[in-house]
Amino acid sequence: MYKHKTAFKLIILFFFNMFLTLSVFAQNNSKKYNLKCSSPLKKTMSLSGDFGEIRSDHFHMGADIRLRTGQPVYAVADGYLYRYKTEPGGYGNVLYINHKDGFRSVYCHLNRFREDIHNYVRKEQLKSDKFKVEGYPAPEIFPVKKGDLIGFGGNTGYSFGPHLHFEMRYSKNDVAINPYHFLSFPQDYRKPEVRALLVKSADENSGVNGKEQATIYKLRASKNHLIPTGRIEAFGRVKLSVMTVDRRSNQHNSYALYGARLFVNNSLIFEFKKDEIPFEKTRCINSFIDYKEYKKARKKFTNLYREKNNNLAIYGDFGDGYIDIKNNEKKKIRIELFDFNGNTTTVKFLISGKLSAKKKETVEACKHKMYAGKNNYFIQDDFRLMTSENAFYDDFCLHYKKQIANDDFFSDWHNVWGDFTPIHEGVDIAIRTKNIDENLLPKTCIVRKKSDGELVNVGGKLLNGFMTAKVSSFGKYAVYLDTIPPHLTPKNFSAKTKSYNLKKYIKFKVEDNMSKVVAYKAMLNGEKTVAHYDLKNDLINIEVPAQIKYKDVNLHLEVFDAKGNVAVYNHTFKME
Ligand SMILES: [Zn+2]
Repeated sequence: MYKHKTAFKLIILFFFNMFLTLSVFAQNNSKKYNLKCSSPLKKTMSLSGDFGEIRSDHFHMGADIRLRTGQPVYAVADGYLYRYKTEPGGYGNVLYINHKDGFRSVYCHLNRFREDIHNYVRKEQLKSDKFKVEGYPAPEIFPVKKGDLIGFGGNTGYSFGPHLHFEMRYSKNDVAINPYHFLSFPQDYRKPEVRALLVKSADENSGVNGKEQATIYKLRASKNHLIPTGRIEAFGRVKLSVMTVDRRSNQHNSYALYGARLFVNNSLIFEFKKDEIPFEKTRCINSFIDYKEYKKARKKFTNLYREKNNNLAIYGDFGDGYIDIKNNEKKKIRIELFDFNGNTTTVKFLISGKLSAKKKETVEACKHKMYAGKNNYFIQDDFRLMTSENAFYDDFCLHYKKQIANDDFFSDWHNVWGDFTPIHEGVDIAIRTKNIDENLLPKTCIVRKKSDGELVNVGGKLLNGFMTAKVSSFGKYAVYLDTIPPHLTPKNFSAKTKSYNLKKYIKFKVEDNMSKVVAYKAMLNGEKTVAHYDLKNDLINIEVPAQIKYKDVNLHLEVFDAKGNVAVYNHTFKME
């Protein structure tokens, strides 16, 4: 009897605690996002990054939640483990959980999975010779309840400091949803800040302030809104961008702008709200921001207009945001910038129409115009470029220059570029090869020369004397031979030492001339063991099973690059 009473008390206490926890994380969902979620940390969460942040070539697709390495991570709702993945970069160790009503939650950069999931994944890792391992267990293998432990937080993959990168998605198409619709964070009362306004002409027949293609204005407070410091005179078609920083109450980090509206003479002509972003459109970030300012000066300006081939669903149906201005006309502009909690900053100003504001410099006629929404072809004797209709967001002028390459290369250098033009869907390039040795064909590839001189393998297939590849940025391309294997350096021992006191991993620094290490074979006394590739630190960590302690051990490691070049390390030592 007594025993039962205690159990009953414990149950009451448990539910009371649950109730407290749930009421702290009260929901703030609209009807559409109707999955009731609890905190993945089971406590008040602090954000170091949020959904829709501007990153290189992508939007940040989740919430970054602060934690300590090894801190337990819990399922936010009932469901089952749908997918696991371990990868050298990217999300590192990641779990995907499917929930009812078509939602999926994603937990990234985990240090370790829960014991039974860890053992399951390790078996798969032992079968594979690739660093990246992923799988889709049947729904009945790992069912989960809301609040079940699933793993432990960490810093694996492309993460720089322990945190949980948490995502919510639709399970049918993996479209990412703003986690603010599902998780609750401490209240935020701070408005977005605006650092600068960018006013640009949208075509060759337009202009801003007479000479420059674009003018940057600082802003200052006036009553309860902001105004630019300086008059704005323009003619023709004009477009605006803003540099913003959002802050949260009691936090030092800067966050992403959630939404914006643009009014001209009090009518709404443009709006965006970052609620849903499909992964296949994440590169549209390069059209969401002013790409030129980002590439030139690392400045993140958000565009208050929508380029014609940018079909992100964050934009409202009110218009594309371009402003047409005639001579002697005055237009009243109002910009509203808001965060998820509705804290709003307003910018107000006038644009005065002046014919003299038109650009004065004569523009050289464009020889090779590329069009958004069309297939494009650029055909030279020994270089070709072909695109789908989804390659570009807007029309632009393509430039091309050929240069002689030295004897290390099997073609000339072919340099193609726009005026800081982003590529959305990869474009096909083909380069005519010279003096290529048939025996070395499997080792040849197209390389892009980065501004620091580093060569990057972009792949390549040989067809009728041309080597072809799909590329996602403009630049300098040539055909190259890669016969150099990766370079291995022992990290926590040296080749001379005879016995080692290794705690958990045997570590190697690994480098490749083309920075692409893809596969491995790691054997301890002839038995396969698991090796983890930590891309951000260029480390290969080889697991040492406990039973190998106090024995003489032969280590045999082979590491392959993308062209099949192999580095071998062989050594016998004693484990202590
Ligand atoms: Zn993140």
